[in-house]
Amino acid sequence: MSTTTVKAHDTDLNLFAQINTTNHEQVVFCNDNATGLKAIIAIHNTVLGPGLGGTRMWNYKDEAAALKDVLRLSRGMTYKAAISGLNLGGAKAVIIGDASKHKSEALMRKFGRFVENLNGKYITAEDVGTTTKDMEYVNMETDSVVGLPESMGGGGDPSPVTAYGVYMGMKASAKKAYGSDSLKGKKIAIQGIGKVGMHLVELVHKEGAEIYVSDINDISLKHAADNFGAGVVTGNDIYSLGLDIFAPCALGGILNTENINSLNCSIVAGAANNQLAIEDEHGKMIKEKGLLYAPDFLINAGGLINVYSEYIGYNRENAMRDTENIYDTTLSIYNLAEEKGMHTQKAATILAQKRVDDILGVQSTF
Ligand code: NAD
Repeated sequence: MSTTTVKAHDTDLNLFAQINTTNHEQVVFCNDNATGLKAIIAIHNTVLGPGLGGTRMWNYKDEAAALKDVLRLSRGMTYKAAISGLNLGGAKAVIIGDASKHKSEALMRKFGRFVENLNGKYITAEDVGTTTKDMEYVNMETDSVVGLPESMGGGGDPSPVTAYGVYMGMKASAKKAYGSDSLKGKKIAIQGIGKVGMHLVELVHKEGAEIYVSDINDISLKHAADNFGAGVVTGNDIYSLGLDIFAPCALGGILNTENINSLNCSIVAGAANNQLAIEDEHGKMIKEKGLLYAPDFLINAGGLINVYSEYIGYNRENAMRDTENIYDTTLSIYNLAEEKGMHTQKAATILAQKRVDDILGVQSTF
């Protein structure tokens, strides 16, 4: 058994102050000395349904960082489910530790027991640092898990559905910016051609887009160049490239003051979570620059829609059809943002919160 050491932060965690600020319902700390499990499950809001969100395993620099991450991610899940019209709440879990060293069958199963103790209020899935195999272990202890392999009745890899949703968001953005949703001949750069990005390359290639890609993985770059005629861009050059659409599909927090200033495109629409380094500040900056920003938590919701389908009885066709709604929702957010003079991420958050508030009202009578 290997145990995880994690430093307590120098200052007090101010637990309730943090949870008050983010308005979380419940935060559960899970500890097991035998397996070395140290996990935090954050349930942000269950007005619309059980809180669904993946389990991230990460070697956090300290406990404060783990708590901050799980609170931020679980809140994001509430908005993602709400804006996508799903009857799901928002939650997320983090396991503190190095996935390559500290993970074991026993640890994942112990984590599954903690999930089971929440009696269906939290449903987990894979995320960064966890795999479908880990979810099989979790599933040995609880049914409150999705993202299982197709052989076990699950939906398998959600990435193609996520890519399809991003593609829908891109087309809606093109409709708003150019009056036509055709991507034929549009210059599109995709940063990060991993599971989602490569599917996206394929989709926009089929429509006749001119594609540029960047990645730190040379094999992926070669694949995109050889199979889809993509031009390869290195380093930060991608930010200043003259483009129609820039699609961040690698890392979160990549849109900051410096590179927003460099952007030379009309639309930003990609899969990465939490793209805006400082949500309000950078959302405003993009708006003032006259660019359209497709809210990330809306257009990357295909994966969540896919696992929701697994929760209610898996059907990939239904999941794809529901993902198509991202097109209309993106347009309605652009219209709301224009009408209210606000940036699009803010408009999307307001719309998501409104659905939660409206349904809370519905449930106020017996
Ligand atoms: P992935 O790990 O398969 O792909 C990420 C790719 O980005 C990799 O190819 C990696 O080499 C590349 N990359 C890393 N650093 C880079 C850098 N500095 N510059 C350029 N490329 C870099 O991940 P994924 O599943 O494709 O997810 C991509 C993004 O979309 C992530 O932010 C993820 O959180 C988000 N997302 C994914 C899904 C899904 O269904 N997989 C759903 C919602 C959101």
